Amino acid sequence: MQIKSILGLPFETLKEEFIRNGFSLLDAKRVFPWIHPKLVKTFEEMSDVPKRVREKLPDFFSLERPICKILQESSDGTIKTLLEFKDNNCIETVFIPDEKRNTICVSSQVGCPIGCRFCNTGTQQFCRNLTSSEIMAQIIFWIEWQKKLNADPITNIVFMGMGEPLLNSQNLFAVLEILLNKKTYNFSRNKITVSTSGIVNDAIVELAKFGVKLAVSLHASNDKKRSELMPINNKYKISEVLSAVQNYHKLSNTSHITFEYLLLDGINDSEDDAIELSKLLRKFGGARARVNLIMFNSWNGSKFRGASDEKANYFSKILLSRGIRTIIRKSRGRDIFAACGQLKSEDKMIYG
Ligand code: SAH
Ligand code: SF4
Repeated sequence: MQIKSILGLPFETLKEEFIRNGFSLLDAKRVFPWIHPKLVKTFEEMSDVPKRVREKLPDFFSLERPICKILQESSDGTIKTLLEFKDNNCIETVFIPDEKRNTICVSSQVGCPIGCRFCNTGTQQFCRNLTSSEIMAQIIFWIEWQKKLNADPITNIVFMGMGEPLLNSQNLFAVLEILLNKKTYNFSRNKITVSTSGIVNDAIVELAKFGVKLAVSLHASNDKKRSELMPINNKYKISEVLSAVQNYHKLSNTSHITFEYLLLDGINDSEDDAIELSKLLRKFGGARARVNLIMFNSWNGSKFRGASDEKANYFSKILLSRGIRTIIRKSRGRDIFAACGQLKSEDKMIYG
């Protein structure tokens, strides 16, 4: 029988798994707090669980962590790690310390099927979705890392690593349920951001129930340009994305929606592009839209060049003057290829 990792099971699912395998509701109730937030690594340590149960649990379930294969630290303090799972597949996850917060960037898939032209992860062959336990294991890795160093806890979690989170929605939701649970980590929904390339199916409606922040990778203000950069735009056009996101804003009761806009030299960084973007977002409801301008992070073999700082500043000024809240996002961890769009783990991958 296959032993199942239970790191990423919300209580209700854990309870069902326990009962299906001959354990009791009380066993589940006792075990759960040891997993979250106590983060014990063995069933043996669960002192209020009867000994015979503790001995039987490893025959069915595991609390095993992935193997940390590589750990790299950037000159700006960002840390990236390559984690290897049971089937030898690997993903990268990143820790980004700042003056005010400690953010972690979490992956949701091994590779990414969306294939955005500017993204290194998109060039990697898509392999599979991560399980909820594999997603949760990344978060646990950083919590344990900070604890070991006696350092400040994780304050923010962004689902902006490898993969498209809304294509792995059920596993994402399981992890959100654990994180937001008052009895476990009691994370604030305002401290969690899910970034999507604009997959606007039922998953985005379901995500609204969690009320977490949403970031949408827009990167162009008309369909022609966006489809060239992001093939997913052939499926979900800008107008569909914006109306789904408007709906998300209403349902989730979040303060604003973030639109990510990557500035690519000579492609989407002109004055006209900025004006077109501001018009689009004003239609959306300017006050509810925030733009994060992203500088291009290059990678081996990429065809693009980033816009200059001057152009970025000018672009930002135009948006601001038209009433769109805009910031230029600082790039972190570029020297170790830990920045947005640079993550890749193909060399270490086994295709399933
Ligand atoms: N798949 C999701 C989340 C992961 S990507 C999404 O696409 O939204 C996180 C962010 O990095 C996205 O906004 C993405 O467009 C951006 N990105 C991708 N490649 C990049 C690159 N080379 N330089 C800077 N940002 C990049
Ligand atoms: Fe996938 Fe996001 Fe990269 Fe596009 S930008 S290929 S959706 S990870």
